[in-house]
Amino acid sequence: MSVNPKPTIALTFDVELWSEGAWLKPHITEDMLAHDPFPKSMERVLNALKKYSAHATFFVTLDVTEKYPHILKQIADDGHEIGIHGPRHIRLSEYTPETFKQDCEKQITLIETATDAKVKNNNLGFRAAHFSLDKKTEWILPILKDLGFTYDSSIFPMNMGEYGVADAQLDRYEIIPGLTEIPTSVATIFGFRIPFAGGIYFRFLPLFIFKWFVHSVAKTRTPIIYFHPHELDSSTPQIKSGPYIRRLLKYWNTKNSFKKFEKLLNCYIFDSIKHINHL
Ligand SMILES: [Zn+2]
Repeated sequence: MSVNPKPTIALTFDVELWSEGAWLKPHITEDMLAHDPFPKSMERVLNALKKYSAHATFFVTLDVTEKYPHILKQIADDGHEIGIHGPRHIRLSEYTPETFKQDCEKQITLIETATDAKVKNNNLGFRAAHFSLDKKTEWILPILKDLGFTYDSSIFPMNMGEYGVADAQLDRYEIIPGLTEIPTSVATIFGFRIPFAGGIYFRFLPLFIFKWFVHSVAKTRTPIIYFHPHELDSSTPQIKSGPYIRRLLKYWNTKNSFKKFEKLLNCYIFDSIKHINHL
């Protein structure tokens, strides 16, 4: 009997425009907005996934949905899963229950139209911007359930200061009756939780250490990792002013990130959250 040595990983993308960040906005110049690298970044990501027969979940913001419906169609036509990120790229605490529901309803309709109803409102996943779901913003959960979402993937299960829930479960669980939570992966070493599963952690860690974390998680549950199309594209404009540490974290090693991402694609079987979890 042959055994496939490659673990299956849930691959996710938080699909926002590079300029969708509150702290970035005061530092963005007109020149930077003249050329939007988003379509090219997405084309490269989708081509790479095709090349390595990988599938993924794309959590997309409302801004992207409004501006690039043809890219949503391409994502759906390529057999990937589409979910909602945001819907606007703001922290959940900036929403009221009414405005949150309105934006979700608006985006669900736009996604349905963009994908010729390939993606409908009865099976969507959700991820908050900035992993901003916590005890104070869990009022969104009954709204998600009422709107037909089947799962949420907004919990970062450790306290990172600006985001994260320290005592959250590491594996999938029912967060409210009828709604599944699929937390992003963190590794556990000697009882300590360690972030590694995407974004700056992926760009910062040598690939062999990233893979070591993936394997350590895969022993007990499916690893869930996340990327942003703009951090895999070195042509994305970089702001030159603003908080130094934030800029350092945002742009660290974006020059080599796509090559590293492609190497990773060659190492595992990648699929969407929906397929892996039968949701
Ligand atoms: Zn985001």
